[in-house]
Amino acid sequence: MIPRTLFDADLDGFRDSVRKFLEQEAVPYHEQWEKDGQVSRELWQKAGELGFLCPTMPEEYGGAGADFRYSAVVMEEVSRAGLSGIGWTLHSDIVAPYILNYGSEEQKKNYLPRMAAGEIITAIAMSESGAGSDLQGVKTTALKDGDHYILNGSKTFITNGQMADLAIVVAKTDPKEGAKGISLLLVETAWEGFEKGQNLNKVGMKAQDTSELFFQDVKVPVAHLLGSMEGQGF
Ligand SMILES: Cc1cc2nc3c(=O)[nH]c(=O)nc-3n(C[C@H](O)[C@H](O)[C@H](O)COP(=O)(O)OP(=O)(O)OC[C@H]3O[C@@H](n4cnc5c(N)ncnc54)[C@H](O)[C@@H]3O)c2cc1C
Repeated sequence: MIPRTLFDADLDGFRDSVRKFLEQEAVPYHEQWEKDGQVSRELWQKAGELGFLCPTMPEEYGGAGADFRYSAVVMEEVSRAGLSGIGWTLHSDIVAPYILNYGSEEQKKNYLPRMAAGEIITAIAMSESGAGSDLQGVKTTALKDGDHYILNGSKTFITNGQMADLAIVVAKTDPKEGAKGISLLLVETAWEGFEKGQNLNKVGMKAQDTSELFFQDVKVPVAHLLGSMEGQGF
C-alpha cells in the first residue's frame, strides 16, 4: 500500500478519538437505526461535545479552526465503521461553509455555534420531484411580502430531512428570471407551514433519513436570505 503522508501525529490522535467514539456510541446502535430510518439525536450532541462536528469552522463560531483534513478523518472513520446513516458531512462540510462564507454576522452567530455543538441539525433542500440535475427548474417560490418571504413548494431526497432543525432552501425569489431568480434562504423547520413528509425508503443507507419536505405559506424573515442580495443562489 502507498504510505499516506497527509496526516501527522495530531491527526492520528484525532482519528483514534473519532474511531473509539464511533465504536462505543454508534456501531452498537447501527442496526436499530437502520430499522428506525435515522440515527439518534444524542449521537449528534455527543459528537458536538467532542468537537467532531464543524471542525473547520473558526473558533469564534464554535468550531476548532482546523483544516479540512480533520473533516476528512471524520468522513473516513464513519465510512470505515460502515455507518451509512450519519449525515455529519452534509452538516459540517456543506451547510456550515455556506453559512460561514455567505451568511451575515447575525446568521453566523445564531447558527454556527449550535451546529458545532450538535444542538441543531441541518439540511440543504435543493432537489424537487421535477428538478434534480437541472436545478434551475425548481418550482419552489419565495415571494417577498413586506419584511418576509412567503415560501411555497416542496423538496425531495433531502438528507437529514427528518432530523433537521434548519434547512438552506433553494427557491425562486423572482420566477420570471429563471436561474438568475434563484436565492437561498435559511428556514427553520419548526416554523408554521413547514412540514416534513415521509422518510423515503431506499435500497441502501437505511439509517440515513432522506425525506420529502413541504412548504405552505411559510413566513421567512427577509434577514434569513443567505447572501447579500437576491438571485445569487444558482
Ligand atoms: C441518498 C440521496 C441523498 C440526497 N440528498 C440530497 C440533499 O440533501 N439535498 C438535495 O437537494 N438533494 C439531495 N439528493 C438528490 C440528488 O441531488 C438528485 O437525485 C440529483 O441531483 C439527481 O437528480 P434526479 O434524481 O432528479 O435525476 P435526474 O436529474 O433526472 O437525472 C437522471 C439521470 O439522467 C442523467 N442526466 C441528467 N441530466 C443529464 C444531461 N443533461 N446529460 C446527460 N445525462 C443527464 C443523470 O446523470 C442521471 O443518471 C439526494 C439523492 C439521494 C439519492
